[in-house]
Amino acid sequence: TQTILLASRPKGLPTAEQFQFETIELPTPSVGQVLLKTLYVSVDPYMRGRMNEGKSYVPPFTVGEPIAGGAVAEVLESQNEALPVGSVVVGNLPWQQYSLADGKGLNRIPTDKAPVSYFLGLLGMPGLTAYFGLLDICQPKAGETVVVSGAAGAVGMVVGQLAKIAGARVIGTAGSDEKVAYLKQLGFDEAINYKTTPDIAQALAAAAPNGVDCYFDNVGGPITDAVYDLLNKHARIALCGQISSYNDTEAPVGPRPEGKLLKTSAKLQGFIVSDYFSRWPEGVRKLTEWYGQGKLQFEETITEGFDQIPAAFLGLFTGENTGKAIVKVA
Ligand code: NDP
Repeated sequence: TQTILLASRPKGLPTAEQFQFETIELPTPSVGQVLLKTLYVSVDPYMRGRMNEGKSYVPPFTVGEPIAGGAVAEVLESQNEALPVGSVVVGNLPWQQYSLADGKGLNRIPTDKAPVSYFLGLLGMPGLTAYFGLLDICQPKAGETVVVSGAAGAVGMVVGQLAKIAGARVIGTAGSDEKVAYLKQLGFDEAINYKTTPDIAQALAAAAPNGVDCYFDNVGGPITDAVYDLLNKHARIALCGQISSYNDTEAPVGPRPEGKLLKTSAKLQGFIVSDYFSRWPEGVRKLTEWYGQGKLQFEETITEGFDQIPAAFLGLFTGENTGKAIVKVA
């Protein structure tokens, strides 16, 4: 089977050089193991952090070892009663066409609720990130103004729709006119193309005449600087991601926001979706329910072919994806 190893650690934006394709032989499964055929691979921004050395909330990938991440796979051979042949699972798997697993950390998923790839998106890690970050940290109320950056991505598009369900006025920022049009179609009250708007601060101020009560931050950088100027008293900020700086080679510098938080008695909270691990079933249940009732829509950008995984991953940093970036492997 083919595998993709981390060849070296990138400086700045990764290039093709960092991804080494190799062919390996897989033994037949021993007792407790299953042979999996990868159906869909998830490419996610956090994986960029794992390519670096150093301590973070997930350990770094090892140079010379397969890159791994969220994937949906089908059980082809089984020596594990809990995972019969034909079952479909989601879990953390190596970037491989086929892999062996012992079943730990793999969850069987239903095939009749939604496309199985949604368990890497709406009904998986990104959807849960939106659910807990918005509802637990931002706690939007009807009539309040919510801003979400990275709004047309996997997490952002769910955040905006959940904020609408909560009755808030929702403003999103995204990097193309197509994405802006898509957000309007999803029910966002305002959407701003941050790449073409000459003055993002002015555009946000115009879109939020009553100020900002909740900010769901996916990107950091200048967009976030501008939102901080619009915070209302007791605003809540869920610090979810900072993709604008993931490829920086030096620590980003910018305006210091502390004074703005102080003056508005705002609450800023960073979080990792795994903080909510014990509540994941609740999140999946609610998201599945809203999806089933037609209250939540979801979008995927599906790239075909195992050899396209690195390109799809790099596309996250140029905004190639609308909704969840997925690679269809088989
Ligand atoms: P997305 O589907 O949103 O994909 C990334 C998007 O980021 C791109 O499509 C692009 O859209 C945008 N982007 C890329 N570079 C920049 C930039 N310099 N400035 C502004 N936007 C940029 O990814 P996810 O929904 O999976 O993740 C969104 C964020 O949430 C990420 O920061 C991620 O790290 C974080 N995250 C955090 C989790 C947690 O537990 N805290 C869990 C999951 C995700 P555009 O065209 O708009 O530029």
